[in-house]
Amino acid sequence: MLWSQAFIPTLREAPADAEILSHKLLLRAGLIRKLAGGVYTFLPLGLRALRKVEQIIREEMDRAGALELLMPALQPPEIWQQTGRYETAGNVLFKLKDSGNREWVLSPTAEEVITTIAANEINSYRQLPKNFYQISVKFRDEIRPRFGLMRAKEFIMKDAYSFDTTDDGAMASYKKMYDAYARIFARCGLKAFPVEADTGVIGGKFSHEFMVPAETGENEVVYCEACGYAANIEKATSGIPKTAAREAGAAIEKFATPGIVTIEALSKAPYSVPANRQIKTLVYMADSKPVIILIRGDDQLNEAKLAGIIGTTVFRPATPEECVATLGAKPGSLGAVAATLKGGTGFQPVNPEHRLEACATLAIYADERLRGANDMTTGANEDGFHFKIVSIERDIKVTEWFDLRTVTAGEPCAKCGKPLKIRRAIEVGHVFKLGTEYSEKLGATFLDEAGTRKPAVMGCYGIGVTRTMQAVIEQCNDKDGIIWPLSVAPYTVCITPLGVAPESAVMKLAEKIYVELTARGVDVILDDRDERPGVKFKDSELVGFPIRVGIGEKSLAKGEVELKPRVGALQAVKADEAVDAVIKLLG
Ligand SMILES: [Zn+2]
Repeated sequence: MLWSQAFIPTLREAPADAEILSHKLLLRAGLIRKLAGGVYTFLPLGLRALRKVEQIIREEMDRAGALELLMPALQPPEIWQQTGRYETAGNVLFKLKDSGNREWVLSPTAEEVITTIAANEINSYRQLPKNFYQISVKFRDEIRPRFGLMRAKEFIMKDAYSFDTTDDGAMASYKKMYDAYARIFARCGLKAFPVEADTGVIGGKFSHEFMVPAETGENEVVYCEACGYAANIEKATSGIPKTAAREAGAAIEKFATPGIVTIEALSKAPYSVPANRQIKTLVYMADSKPVIILIRGDDQLNEAKLAGIIGTTVFRPATPEECVATLGAKPGSLGAVAATLKGGTGFQPVNPEHRLEACATLAIYADERLRGANDMTTGANEDGFHFKIVSIERDIKVTEWFDLRTVTAGEPCAKCGKPLKIRRAIEVGHVFKLGTEYSEKLGATFLDEAGTRKPAVMGCYGIGVTRTMQAVIEQCNDKDGIIWPLSVAPYTVCITPLGVAPESAVMKLAEKIYVELTARGVDVILDDRDERPGVKFKDSELVGFPIRVGIGEKSLAKGEVELKPRVGALQAVKADEAVDAVIKLLG
């Protein structure tokens, strides 16, 4: 490609709305342009890099035995209703109507479609196992798209779905994908590592995410350097001990706490109740029903863990009005002591009728760390009052116990006891063992050898293709621009003649090297623009071509050209050995 014929609109400055470095570089290097928030055009150079990422994915998926197909992005809502995800994925699902007022869904993922295919086409164990994949445009109704391709409304994803006859078979399929993913990210030049992941509303049983460490990543990874434990913070657990039991009085006591509505305020004089002796009571609205959450005062609720428990991400903290309606008090004075919920055991409820009803329907989920805790303090469900000497198992009717808290740095690793660390990362891939939930709901069954009908055991496996490309840039750059790994660079070599007069010795040699490298299968761009050398070098470094071949009159007089790897020292080579020297650098 001749630079003068290409379309590489580089920018000196990134637009103000580009927040992170890789987003700025995508724009400055002329790889993408924004059409609307979270919606981008891939310009020719960006598309070349994207296609190379796709090709690596395709080769490794094929090598792992997966079969490529292409499913529609436009999907009928009925199959989404059948799996229940029309509601549970409601906050990210694009829903639209056609001119006939018929509803449609724009696909963020394709479990529903592929499982329908399997339901219709697969009938016997002889047809299994199968793993299908596609590389296609997906949609997410992101409220706050940001960071360029990282969190977009429209993006490209590789999604794969495996169908097996047994659980062991499904694990083998999972392992194949896990290994393929490790190869894919390594080939893209990414340092990605797998972490245990939350299975969320997708309903999985077992899951890993592939993470690229980056300060700008939207995920937090908890990891242990000593034993290698690594998990998304949404899933991570630690070996932290339960709340210590104490000598305590025989019954709870109510005490006045006028104006005290925070854990911190109650921890100070004159009350001086340490945060770890307080029970924090939170009210969430899920499906317009309130759920009461209890966690220790010094802990934070992990909403991803809550989503996994209640089976939907469609929930939110209750408003102060909803808290009053549910428990009779505003946030800051809430509690779940049974006496206040039922009324009549020594404390006068504000609205006994309502609380009786609430008690019958309220779900109270408590964090494991509170199990067995006594001598605790919590809100009295009456503004300006708290209870002390609360023994959680005596005084609160917990519906169920869960791990609900977020791990913090420095807590002991659950596996080896060493302190855990936390770092930020970009999620580029995700593998799930799904089990039979989707195959049961959509009827993807097969007859086994004995003639018994069984649901197929599924797995699903995603790679954010556009996000992976940006993650490469986020990880591989310096002050001058992108440093493309050889495998995904839009062009591998940039030939930069310092003068472009036709028929000049410099230009003739540039054209000769261009022709020879191209003939040897190298992706080459020849910067034939009549620009100052400084401009050409700057552009070449900004776009990040891995190798630059500089040809100037001075060095050519000595019979030499200059090879400059994007990272590495400039080396002079004999002009007639330049092509071989480049090939050698490419390995
Ligand atoms: Zn450990």
